[in-house]
Amino acid sequence: MEKNEYLNAGVSTKAVWAGEKEQRVHGATQVPVVVSVAYGYDDMDEWYDVAIGKKFGHIYGRNTNPTVAAFENKVRILEGAEAATSFSTGMAAISNVLYTFLRPGDKVVSIKDTYGGTNKIFTEFLPNMNVVVTLCNTGDHEAIEAEVKKGCKILYLETPTNPTVKITDIERMVKAGKAVGAIVVVDNTFATPINQNPLALGADIVLHSATKFLGGHADALGGVACGSKELIEQVYHYREINGATLAPWDAYLLLRGMKTLKLRVLQQAKSAMEIAKYLEKQELVEAVYYPGLESHVHHDIAKKQMRGFGGMLSFALKGGMDSVKVLLPKLEYANRAANLGAVETTYGPARTTSHVECTVEERKAMGIPEGLVRISVGIEDVEDLIADLEQAFQHLAKNIK
Ligand SMILES: *Cc1c(COP(=O)(O)O)cnc(C)c1O
Repeated sequence: MEKNEYLNAGVSTKAVWAGEKEQRVHGATQVPVVVSVAYGYDDMDEWYDVAIGKKFGHIYGRNTNPTVAAFENKVRILEGAEAATSFSTGMAAISNVLYTFLRPGDKVVSIKDTYGGTNKIFTEFLPNMNVVVTLCNTGDHEAIEAEVKKGCKILYLETPTNPTVKITDIERMVKAGKAVGAIVVVDNTFATPINQNPLALGADIVLHSATKFLGGHADALGGVACGSKELIEQVYHYREINGATLAPWDAYLLLRGMKTLKLRVLQQAKSAMEIAKYLEKQELVEAVYYPGLESHVHHDIAKKQMRGFGGMLSFALKGGMDSVKVLLPKLEYANRAANLGAVETTYGPARTTSHVECTVEERKAMGIPEGLVRISVGIEDVEDLIADLEQAFQHLAKNIK
């Protein structure tokens, strides 16, 4: 465990400094990428003490690694947690947390709009091991409370959600979860620790796909879970045996990306707000979903629990998928891809990205229009992004079916 917790420092100071000094060597100002798989000991007693956890040290790369430890500590301090452990991907963080605590016969309550992979665990893998999963309509707080009240082992939340950026009231859900002794888990990937700290709102475990905003450059995969020492030690134990270990090189890239986390997230949120307002004025846009807009169904909850509204928004085009096919290829400053949270602006239709596994009817039932486009706003100059949209909309106006 790290000595310097940076308790009095601001969030960007933490993002730059936390977790690093303890891992530096030879006076280097940066954390080294330690690629060694094993760590040797000449003293047999010392080796034994490290192996049984009596003394701190590294034994084998699947368990711990100095570069990975720096990454874990940085996120831990940003989330204000006692402990953190990391994973090879965000999905590994999610599945390992769930499998650590769930046993046959247990019940999970969650929402319908979780990340696609998470939804697959809920609808496919957990039922296979006789875990009962109840998925409530996202944003229907009464329905979630009613389900939780019947008893559950885990209350699993994600807020904001993909792709219509719905918000769940974390404090209110924590109250319901605590009343029945549930472990409350929150996927904080969209919000980032810059905009929201679920642990401070009472949640037990906060997790991230570090692949997205934490890394920020779409060049490294990773996941992380933070919480109390008691819970995280159990998750770590499952992960060290299960083997979904974060690789040192990815840990380094994520560490480097995180130093600019606040700068990026603030700019992305500012630009997202301007783009949302621009889109609201477009004739060919049916609806805009951004929690920063007063028109958003959960604007008040977002205002209450988030420090900023984030860089994710979506909009529905008139003319559905036909219009999407005309508009998206016209954009210059755009990756048309399934990723999000990167420095480059990324566009993707829900039909092809977050909800590719759903049928047209399922998407309709979830309130996802066929012409829905998700934007992960990058750090480009917002004037350029809006001008780019403007020329694409002019093209669509001339070519709409
Ligand atoms: C991408 C994502 C995940 C999964 O993360 P991977 O690193 O791709 O495994 C989980 N939750 C959310 C909200 C995501 O956006």
